[in-house]
Amino acid sequence: MSVDTLTIPTQRVAKSRISEVDFDNLQFGKTFSDHMFVVDYKDGAWQNPQVLPYGDMPLSPATSSLHYGQAIFEGMKAYKNGDGDILLFRPLANLQRLNKSAERLCMPELPEELFMQGLEQLLRLDADWVPAKEGSSLYIRPLMFATDNFIGVRPSLTYRFLIITCPVGKYYDKPVKVAVEPNYVRSAEGGAGYAKAAGNYAAALLPSRKMQEKGYDQLIWTDAKEHKYVEESGTMNIMFVMDDVLVTPSLSTSILHGVTRDSVLQVAKDLGFRVEERRVAVDEVIAAQQAGKLTEAFGTGTAAIISQIALIHHNGQDYELPPVETRKVSNQVGAQLDKIRTGQAPDTHNWVYKI
Ligand code: PMP
Repeated sequence: MSVDTLTIPTQRVAKSRISEVDFDNLQFGKTFSDHMFVVDYKDGAWQNPQVLPYGDMPLSPATSSLHYGQAIFEGMKAYKNGDGDILLFRPLANLQRLNKSAERLCMPELPEELFMQGLEQLLRLDADWVPAKEGSSLYIRPLMFATDNFIGVRPSLTYRFLIITCPVGKYYDKPVKVAVEPNYVRSAEGGAGYAKAAGNYAAALLPSRKMQEKGYDQLIWTDAKEHKYVEESGTMNIMFVMDDVLVTPSLSTSILHGVTRDSVLQVAKDLGFRVEERRVAVDEVIAAQQAGKLTEAFGTGTAAIISQIALIHHNGQDYELPPVETRKVSNQVGAQLDKIRTGQAPDTHNWVYKI
């Protein structure tokens, strides 16, 4: 069916839960807005889109995604500008990545009209849930999973796509201590690391926990073959400033193609900084630190936008980075990106989608 011109059937909550929410003390991922968007795939087509009260869904124990992990998701944010408009940041970039993830996991693609219409209708209905306070936003979680009640291993014939949302407060961005992971890998060339597949995150939990037990906040993933080249940091892309150049690992099948990564690189170029996407050896980063040429290191991602790295641990040694106040590139790029996202700077790349 075409959903171009149709308004999506909507069932409103009898009573909003919004008055029960303490918007000054939001814990990430715990509070959900009143409604959700739901659409099901069967007989080769997406059918029956609906906006429903947020709530539990009955599932068969044989639901195939629970067994074989055909499950993908996305993460993006909406902001309110001074006029009370809702601003989405690069929603189509997230849809494109969702569809790349879907292809990799043998799941059906979601058409743009369906995604955007569901998203818009949901956000209009739950507009009061988009916080207006500086630093706050509405985190948007699209997800898709296989729903066949069948435990043979094959691509499911049926799927459910949903969008749920949670208001989130200002991200507490204390600079983090990270350690280069010498043994475990998040993904390998030819694997599914570039997909936002649920299983990728499950497999990263144990290495992350072990690193945290050693006193580091997060780990730096390295390449699967040699553990020689930097890939990502935790669930963020990673960037360094060495010799006044912003350097980040080039994209591959083992790296998640971050929307923030792409935006940071573009804004850095716009501000006149030199940018390189290439292989980055751990040894190069350590040598730069030793020579006093590693002036910045940070992760990029939707949750924190820029997460500063205070210290890198490698091979039994801790290497400290300069204080955050001195970090010209990330501070300037972060501030500019913040302004663009919230409608306070010109949107020269057409990244902001107003609802
Ligand atoms: N890498 C991984 C593994 C991630 O989970 C994320 C978060 N989606 C990112 C990088 C950053 O991506 P984005 O900037 O699109 O949030």
